[in-house]
Parts: sequence; C-alpha cells; structure tokens
Amino acid sequence: MNEVKSPKKPLIYYYCIVLIVLMLFNLLAMPWLSQRRIVEVDYGSFVSMVEDGEVKQAEIQEQENRILFTKEGDNRIYKTAMVGDDRLPDRLLDAGVVFNGVEIEQTSPFLTVLLSWVLPIVIFVAIGQYMSRKLMKSAGGPNAMMFGKSNAKIYVKSSEGIKFSDVAGEDEAKDNLKEIVEYLHNPKKYQEIGASMPKGILLVGPPGTGKTMLAKAVAGEANVPFFSISGSEFVEMFVGMGASKVRDLFKQAKEKAPCIVFIDEIDAIGKKRDGQFGGNDEREQTLNQLLTEMDGFEGNTGVIILAATNRPESLDPALTRPGRFDRRVPVELPDLKGREEILKVHARKIKVADDVDFNKVARMASGASGAELANIVNEAALRAVRDGRSFATQADLEESIEVVIAGYQKKNAILTDQEKWIVAYHETGHALVAALQTHSAPVQKITIIPRTSGALGYTMQVEEGNHYLMSQEELENKIATLTGGRAAEELIFHSASTGASNDIEQATKLARAMITRYGMSDDFDMVALETVNNQYLGGDTSLACSAETAAEVDRQVVEVVKRQHAKATKLLEDNQEKLHELSKYLYEKETITGDEFMKILNR
Ligand code: ADP
Repeated sequence: MNEVKSPKKPLIYYYCIVLIVLMLFNLLAMPWLSQRRIVEVDYGSFVSMVEDGEVKQAEIQEQENRILFTKEGDNRIYKTAMVGDDRLPDRLLDAGVVFNGVEIEQTSPFLTVLLSWVLPIVIFVAIGQYMSRKLMKSAGGPNAMMFGKSNAKIYVKSSEGIKFSDVAGEDEAKDNLKEIVEYLHNPKKYQEIGASMPKGILLVGPPGTGKTMLAKAVAGEANVPFFSISGSEFVEMFVGMGASKVRDLFKQAKEKAPCIVFIDEIDAIGKKRDGQFGGNDEREQTLNQLLTEMDGFEGNTGVIILAATNRPESLDPALTRPGRFDRRVPVELPDLKGREEILKVHARKIKVADDVDFNKVARMASGASGAELANIVNEAALRAVRDGRSFATQADLEESIEVVIAGYQKKNAILTDQEKWIVAYHETGHALVAALQTHSAPVQKITIIPRTSGALGYTMQVEEGNHYLMSQEELENKIATLTGGRAAEELIFHSASTGASNDIEQATKLARAMITRYGMSDDFDMVALETVNNQYLGGDTSLACSAETAAEVDRQVVEVVKRQHAKATKLLEDNQEKLHELSKYLYEKETITGDEFMKILNR
C-alpha cells in the first residue's frame, strides 16, 4: 500500500528562507539602492566647472587625496584627484562654492518609508498568512472554509503492499476478513441472495497481535481505496471539530465506495458515555456522530469499517450493537503453531541457518505476541552480525528469546561467591521442584548469568504442546515450583534473600486467581469474587466482595501458598543430594540445558 500524500517541509525551513532573503537584502540591495552614482572627472574639467559657477558643494578629502563635489541641478557626485594647487581654496571661494561634506549615502524619503515601514509590514503579513494557512491545514483543510476535514490517510494499492500471506497464524481472523474482500470483489453474489455485509468489524486483541497488519492486508487484497485514521485524531481542541471530521470522513468514503475505512484505537472516541459530571463533551459528540453516520448508510453501499482496539470492554454498547460494529473478530495471542508460522514469516526476511528448529523456538517463546516474535527474529539477526556471521543460528534465536524475556547478559555484574552459590541453589530449587512433580513442564534451560532486567538467574520451562486448560493440580504445582527457589535457600543456607520477590508476586497472583476467579476453594464454590478489568492490557482485577470475604480470601491465599511451599521444601529435603550435585554443576557451568539437568537427575 502506498500512502498518497504531498511531501511536507518543516516550518523552520520557511523561516530560514525569510531570514536569508532579509539578510541578502540588507547586505546587497540596501547599499546599492541608497548610494548615489559617482562620476570621475579630471582636475582640469573640475577647475573649469568651478570657474563656470557650476559647482554647488565641495569637500576636500586630503587623506584620500580626492575632491568630491556636486553640481547644480544634478544628483550625481563628482570625484576628481587632488593636485598640488595652492589657489584652489581661493577659486572655490570666488565661485561661491559651499564647503561641507558631500554625502555619498543618500536615501530618498520614498525609499526610507518603503524600507522602514512597508517592507516589515509586508513580511509580517506574509508570515501571518503562511502561519494561518499552516494551522488550517493541520486542522484538516487547505483553507479557512475547510476546518474540520478528516485527515485520514488514503492508501492506494501497490505491488509491495501487505497481503494475507504476510500475516501468519490468526487463521480465524483471516477467514473472517477474506469474506469482506470477497464481497468487495464481487458484491453481486451477495446482493443476489439478499445478504448484506456487516457495516463494521471490530478487531479486538492484545497489543502486537497483528490487528493493524490484518487491516492493511484487507486493503492490500481488496484493491479498493483504504482510509486509515486513528481514533485519537478525531479528538480535537475545539468542540464539534471531531464530529465534523467524522462527517467528512464518511462523505469522502461514500464518494469512493466501495472502500474500507480503518479506525485504529477506536476506544479513544468509542468509550462508554457514562454521563459523569465533567464528562468529555467533545468526545461524546464525536461518538454520537459516528453512531449516526453508521446508521446512515445502507449495508450494501460498500463502505466497510474496520476498527481495532485492545480495550473492547470500555466501548459504548451502542457502538457494538448489531447494525454498527456487528462483527467482532478476536485477534488473540498466537498458539504454538501460530508462533511457529510467525517466526517463519519473519525469518524469511533474514538469513538463517538451515537447521533452525522453529518449533523449539516457538515452544520456548510461549505467550509471546506477533510483535515480540518479530522482535526476537530481528534480535537474532543483530546478534549474528555482532558475531561477524552471515546468517542467524538456532543459538541466536534462543539467546534473543532470553534477551526479549530477561534483557541482555550483564557481563561484568560481579556477584560475590556466596551470592553466586545462593543463586545457583535458588534456580536449581525451582528446576528440581518442577522436574520432581510429574505434571510440571520439563526444564529447558537454567542460567545464573545476571541479566539487565535485574534477574540474577532464571529457569526456563517449556510446555510441550498447546495448553488451553490448567487443572487445579497443575496450578498448585506451578505455585510449588515458584516457591522452590526460596525453599532451597532456606534448606541450605537457613536464611531468606530478596531474590524471590518476583516468585512471590507470581505465586500470590496464581493462588488468588484460583480462589477468586477459578472457583477452586471449598468455601466459596463457584462465586466470582474478582472481576478482570481489561483482559488484554495487563488484566488487573478489582474485588467484588465484602470486606469480610476479602479477609477470608486473603487467609486462604496464604494457606494455598504455604501448603505448596511446604510441599516444595519436602521434595527438596528428600532429594538433597541431587540438589547439591545439580547446584554445584550449575555453579561451575553457569548455564546448563534441560538435557544435562535431566541426565544428572536420573543418574
Ligand atoms: P496491533 O495493531 O495488534 O497492536 P500490529 O499489527 O501493529 O499490532 O503488529 C505489530 C508488528 O508485529 C507487525 O508489524 C508485525 O511485524 C508483527 N506481527 C504481529 N502479528 C503478526 C502476525 N500474525 N504475523 C506476522 N507478523 C506479525
């Protein structure tokens, strides 16, 4: 897709031009304009002119060895060289010549007025005009009558545009959107049977899952004009401006139909109208206008609106009702197969070794979004360049996952020997507890090299396949694994360290979710005690229960974590020898793979 847009020059560019013109004018034109013409004559002519009484004024410049003089009724200045002539003063006096300075610089009153009054005014008016035009443009149109024009970018088809084949995974979303493309290509087929296309399609999902990319792919495939605008661009300083932009956008779209209008981050204007005091009038007007416009065109006009958001729950119900955005296409985080495909799509853009196992990389990057996977591939390529290789290898990809998860290796972070031992036991504790519980995913890698994210080491667990459900037992095992690090420290060093803060946070979150959201406690049965606020952005929760219940929930959370902590301690106690052996090995090697770990464990 190529965007059709006129090139813009920065404002400073125009200021520089004005400044340069002014300077040149002052330097070159001013002296030239204000200087009188000088005519050179010989001394004889000068004397005869004096004698004829033609000379009016004269100035003898001894140092420069010249005489300047002017004639009656002549604006020019005459110049002659001085000759040793004693009678000169007398001659001049006799002829009645006035002795005073002859001004070479002379500005006519007209020129003075022009330069000191008219020119600055003209320049200021020009700058003012220019600025106001610029402001109008940023408000949407090329002149004052076009305030409130939408500044949607219009794309036309080009050969290098994004296609559905560039978007990996997300098959359901693609199928859904392919229907739209099909409709735009062949509306008759649908009209014959009386089917009308949905007016609006809402793409919802976490950030970086390819929503914008899918919208662009629709445009790339559909071969129709594509208007792209971000929700925040409707939000203006002046009330009514956003609404007017919406009107204009739809007017343009209808003229160009069939076409696609893509509104990114629609939650910027589509938030629920809650009527609170001090609500945002401008935003509500804009939303109302959007609702009206969406009602205003028939299903078969061929204007299809795509919108993307990662906060679907905050959208106004009027916007999501059938007849407006009546189709919701979830664009979720990719599953294992999706991740593998996304990695492959992006790996096509770089050079990779033939033996790269994308499936393994995809398994390691569980929970990563499309954007993160693209980043991982790029990091791998950068790493290969840094090492002076011409292609990226499996090791590059694996390392770049760790970079994306935990940051770069901190090469010169110096741990004391004692600290290094503690970290080794801590990480081995996690891995050992995970491995000893049959339901826990096997360990992929353990490392105790500090990272820029602040982690002093970590244990990477890899799921074998896709996991859509987790049983209570699996959740409990996960909590036990998280407490395994601290349990090992306590067992060996009889003290606790700050290294477990992240584990504690995660374990608590899981335990709380088990009780408040998954109905996994005896007392509360299947009652929701917490609601998730925004599922795609962090998923923070708010309590929905009385203070007494909240206190009871807290007590039960502590109990769940305590039980699992005790379980982890017991497991480690029973396998203390292995714990020592593995920790020593890890301490020496700093990074060990899951295979090495299992070999020692099963020895
Ligand atoms: P969103 O709009 O959902 O936040 P984008 O569409 O802007 O995400 O995606 C950001 C980047 O992530 C894209 O430019 C692309 O490189 C990569 N990406 C995301 N999802 C995919 C996918 N399914 N296939 C290929 N690349 C993807």
